[in-house]
Amino acid sequence: MNQTIAREATTALPSPYFREEHELLRRQVRRFVDTEVKPFAHAWEDQGFVPRETLRKMGELGFFGIRYPAEYGGSELDTLASVVLAEELGRSTFGGVAVTALVHAEMASVHIANFGSAEQKARYLPDIIAGRTITAIAVTEPDAGSDVKGMRTNARREGSRFVINGAKMFISNGVYADLYCVAAKTAPEARASQSLSMFLVEKGTPGLKVSRALDKTGWRSSDTAELAFEDCRVPVENVLGAQDSGFYAIMRNFQNERIVLGAMAMGEAEEALDITLDYVTTRKAFGGTLYDKQVIRQRLAMLATRVEAGRQLVYHAAWLDAQGIECTREVSMVKAYCCELVNEVMYDCVQFHGGMGYMRESTIERMARDARVHSIGGGATEVMLEEVAKRLRR
Ligand SMILES: Cc1cc2nc3c(=O)[nH]c(=O)nc-3n(C[C@H](O)[C@H](O)[C@H](O)COP(=O)(O)OP(=O)(O)OC[C@H]3O[C@@H](n4cnc5c(N)ncnc54)[C@H](O)[C@@H]3O)c2cc1C
Repeated sequence: MNQTIAREATTALPSPYFREEHELLRRQVRRFVDTEVKPFAHAWEDQGFVPRETLRKMGELGFFGIRYPAEYGGSELDTLASVVLAEELGRSTFGGVAVTALVHAEMASVHIANFGSAEQKARYLPDIIAGRTITAIAVTEPDAGSDVKGMRTNARREGSRFVINGAKMFISNGVYADLYCVAAKTAPEARASQSLSMFLVEKGTPGLKVSRALDKTGWRSSDTAELAFEDCRVPVENVLGAQDSGFYAIMRNFQNERIVLGAMAMGEAEEALDITLDYVTTRKAFGGTLYDKQVIRQRLAMLATRVEAGRQLVYHAAWLDAQGIECTREVSMVKAYCCELVNEVMYDCVQFHGGMGYMRESTIERMARDARVHSIGGGATEVMLEEVAKRLRR
């Protein structure tokens, strides 16, 4: 028979998914969040971006090279390590800070690590990992979001260069990034899935313009841009991966993006529940605490149960991914389930904070605003459920 281990005897609950290096990373990110993010991030929310100095510190601590090769300064860890980073940044309560770091490390630069040539990797990855070069991924357009194949930005070959024309919308890190991974149509006559290519476009390239910095409901410390490409010329060496295969690269990298967003959402949900538990166990009403009300503690208990289920689904999908097992079904479930759930959690947490939950000075108010975008960005819930529906029969 299995021996029962006393909970007090363990610092973290044992998990089949995590090893010592994951726990070390978790402690390191948590310490960084406590000392380098939380005391300062209100000011970043007001200014609309995370300072470079902070991103460089994250790079120095290895947060931007978790899965990248050691030869460029990476740590060669696995998908579960990316999950740890995302969960802990999610727990910071500043979604804008979390997404700034995660877009750079887990959504944009991934294109270079996965599909870049040896020259591109050698040129860009060391500075990306060190936090000296910050990246953005530019796929969405004003008239094409969920339907990636509908994009209109095009790149025409002219001798040794491609000339890019078009517009990109809602681009995270888009105002201050140094390097953009940009999707554009290179074979408009071909089947949609074989019509796109990815390009590396450096900040300052003539023809690339930040049309405007966008003003958002939440994620206020994350800079978000609309970009314009007007006869933006890049050398053919800047094609990222094989020409016309950009659609497959985008779809593959979406898998990582969705696992990471699910993990970030679950980190946020856990923290919101902790904050709310503190509030309802001290707030007095009707001769006791709010927690004395069965309806409140049961609602929190059910949400905690669902968040635990969501977390375990994230870990399972990340583990499948780390084993190299095809897991589009599970990853789509993660994105749909966790990104809806975090909003349900926020709704009840605001409710149980009463009027204070509606005040800009309360943490839960910011967290609720930040969470709203989870069910839209990186694959809207409806789109994710279509992916699951296609794979319902096992
Ligand atoms: C803050 C923020 C940051 C972002 N960062 C980036 C970034 O860094 N890079 C980037 O490329 N993009 C980024 N995006 C874009 C994001 O991924 C898109 O907003 C998302 O894919 C949805 O596209 P859309 O906004 O054009 O909505 P649409 O595609 O127009 O869809 C609108 C709504 O219709 C519904 N819907 C869509 N398709 C279907 C369907 N097949 N069946 C049923 N319902 C459907 C969904 O509810 C969806 O929310 C960001 C967006 C935001 C808001």
